[in-house]
Amino acid sequence: KMTSTPDPQQNHLDILRKHFGHAKFRPMQWEIIYNIIKLKRDGCVIMATGYGKSLCYQFPPVFCNGTSLVITPLISLMEDQTLALEAANIPACYLGAGQSGQGNKMDKLVQGDYRVVYLTPEFCTGDIGANLFDRLLVSKTITLVAIDEAHCVSQWGHDFRHSYRRLGKIRDKLGYSVPILALTATATQQVQNDICSSLKLRNPFRICSGFDRPNLYLAVHQKGPSIINDLRRHMIRGEMNFAGPTIVYCPTKKATENVAKALSDYGVSCRYYHADLNAKLRKEVHHMFVRDEIQVIVATVAFGMGIDKPDVRLIIHYGAPKDMESYYQEVGRAGRDGLQSQCYSYFSATDFNTNQYFLSNLTGKAYEHRRTAMLKMEQYLQSRQCRRQFLLSHFEPDRLKGPDTPAENCCDNCTFRRAHGNKEPEVDGLKEDGTYDFGEDAELLLSAVNFFGGRFGITMIITFLCGGKNAKFRESEMENEVFGKGKHKPKEWWRGLGRILLQEGYLQEVASKYNAPGKFPMNTIRVGKRGTDFLHRIGKEKISVNLYP
Ligand code: ADP
Repeated sequence: KMTSTPDPQQNHLDILRKHFGHAKFRPMQWEIIYNIIKLKRDGCVIMATGYGKSLCYQFPPVFCNGTSLVITPLISLMEDQTLALEAANIPACYLGAGQSGQGNKMDKLVQGDYRVVYLTPEFCTGDIGANLFDRLLVSKTITLVAIDEAHCVSQWGHDFRHSYRRLGKIRDKLGYSVPILALTATATQQVQNDICSSLKLRNPFRICSGFDRPNLYLAVHQKGPSIINDLRRHMIRGEMNFAGPTIVYCPTKKATENVAKALSDYGVSCRYYHADLNAKLRKEVHHMFVRDEIQVIVATVAFGMGIDKPDVRLIIHYGAPKDMESYYQEVGRAGRDGLQSQCYSYFSATDFNTNQYFLSNLTGKAYEHRRTAMLKMEQYLQSRQCRRQFLLSHFEPDRLKGPDTPAENCCDNCTFRRAHGNKEPEVDGLKEDGTYDFGEDAELLLSAVNFFGGRFGITMIITFLCGGKNAKFRESEMENEVFGKGKHKPKEWWRGLGRILLQEGYLQEVASKYNAPGKFPMNTIRVGKRGTDFLHRIGKEKISVNLYP
């Protein structure tokens, strides 16, 4: 536990004003800085985006006249940060594989000429890095090692990187002579523990700023066939403000290109941004966005991490986000200047298949973990409760009530409730107690699954229900009474129902023995325990599912 921290002294405040232009520290910033410069303790810090992480590792070396080594995954951000520091007369540079003038920079670093040096994790854990750390151990010029985006060390996080896993080497090299500070905006308890142990932190202080971002409005909608129509629907209703800098996240590179084209054709100035663009083009697009020369950047979720702009007003997920951590981080890029911003997600049931595909190269515990994380995301998207509350309780499971500061523009569900005299959002077939009655449709789906006894996956079952032909169906099977009985509902609807019944334990998914890493997983489906009980009592009960878990 933290002991109480004395107030900053005048000399601290002078340096803060002179070099950083701020009149005072934010409370947690000072606590962290005090722990580093006075107590030389390791730390693990979870700080909501926009709170001011950078100061925590930039202030100590300026104050102590030493150097902070800052490990961060993206060269493009290092470049921006270095330029910003130099503009404030704080000597800085960055080191990554293939950078020019490396030898010279390293000599100056060892002499203590820089206050802040950014490094990639690959550089730190490679041979040149190892050699550099040997020299730094001797020179004793390092005030602090800061590891940004520290959640990347954990397999349980959403953005695991192998090079991060090896950063424990830094402790091995430098021993306990230099404090190590891990920082991230997103980490569950499990990920925090993983961070502390794999970076070999010793008795670290832990500080969490809380996760709430009251200036973000959260909304979720079904995805239609055209992004233009989807956006227009919400703009016409006066909900969505499609005016300021906007990031659209798509699940695949192809999708970013299609969406960018649709938006361009509609007259929106935009560019797409993904890993296949060469470095020069990426930089160009990033700069155009930062300088407001284009309004919209359409990025893959895998690559959007490099986009850095404080006044993003709107984040659109066009396709379901991968999991709660990624989602939190991605929407977190909106409104870092503290002004009101909006976050819209559009999803359809098939999006979860795309996400499932990305899971297919995992096995064992890691697979199970990611799968659970994905299901949680599905629940979030389908939830009728306050979305802010749902999101916050994911990171702080003990949280019983809603946000600390009730946001005026909280989320679509709260807005609906307020507009309709506290009535729950309406869904066809939804009953007063919040349960949805799937009636005979659930019966049909379970019967079809039962009929094939685990031979097929959900797609084949739905084809059968909707009366589709397939060479794998035998003539005699097509005479079964449920064949074609599901035509009254679209296939997408059946897929959605299938997912709900899976979550509720009526159905069970069985991984095929032919599944292999990197291949689309083929899971067959069979009736689960709850489904069997139900089938024995058909006609006597209905399947009602609570949509507000
Ligand atoms: P994070 O990395 O946590 O998202 P940054 O370090 O980029 O946040 O800081 C976010 C914003 O807050 C920046 O515009 C920064 O200038 C501002 N800021 C940071 N510390 C202070 C402070 N003590 N007083 C006023 N503004 C601050």
